[in-house]
Amino acid sequence: QPRIGVFALQGDVREHLATLRSLGCEAIGVRRPEELATCDALVIPGGESTTMAKLARIFGLMDPIRERIAGGMPAFGTCAGMIMLADRIVDGAVGQETLGGLDITVRRNAFGRQVDSFEGNLHMTGIEGPVHGVFIRAPWVEEVGPGVEVLARVEGGEAAGRIVAVRQGALMATSFHPEVGDDARVHGLFVDLVRGA
Ligand code: GLN
Repeated sequence: QPRIGVFALQGDVREHLATLRSLGCEAIGVRRPEELATCDALVIPGGESTTMAKLARIFGLMDPIRERIAGGMPAFGTCAGMIMLADRIVDGAVGQETLGGLDITVRRNAFGRQVDSFEGNLHMTGIEGPVHGVFIRAPWVEEVGPGVEVLARVEGGEAAGRIVAVRQGALMATSFHPEVGDDARVHGLFVDLVRGA
C-alpha cells in the first residue's frame, strides 16, 4: 500500500487521514522533513494558505517539499492546499509564498463575501456520477498552463464555468473539500495516480 503523508502544520488533517485510511492507504501527518522522507505522496489540506506557508518555512518543510515535487512526488491539494500547489496567486497576502508545481493561477477567496461558503454538485473527469462539492472561502483557478487538465468546473450560479479541479502530471488540486463527508472517490483518483506513479 502507498504511504501517503498529510501536511500537518495547519488545516483539516484528520479528515484527510481518515479518508486515505478508508481507501487502504497508510497515512501519516507530516510535520518534519524526516516524516516527509518516508512518504510516497503528500496531501495538502484545507485551512489557511498564508499560515501554512509561514509554518512550512519555520519548520523547514518548504524546500524539502518543493524538492520532492520537482522529483515527481504525487501531491494533492484541497482548497488552501490548491493555493499552496499553485505557481501563481491573485489576491494573495503580500509576499505570500507557495510550494508551487502546478502551472495555474488561483484567485484566493474567489467566490466573494455573499457566497463565501456554499455546496453544490459537480462532475469530475474520472468519476462517475455527481460529486458533492463543499466550498469554504475557496479559491478558483483563473488560468491554466498547457500541461494542465481541467477536471471539474462549477455548474450553475454566478460562478458557473469556473475551474475548481485540475491535474498536471502527478499533481492534483480541488477548490472544494472532498475530505468532508463520506465520499472517498476524489481521494481514490489521487491514490490511483500515486499507484501509477
Ligand atoms: N481562504 C483560505 C486561504 O486562502 C482557504 C480556505 C480553505 O482552505 N477552506 O488559504
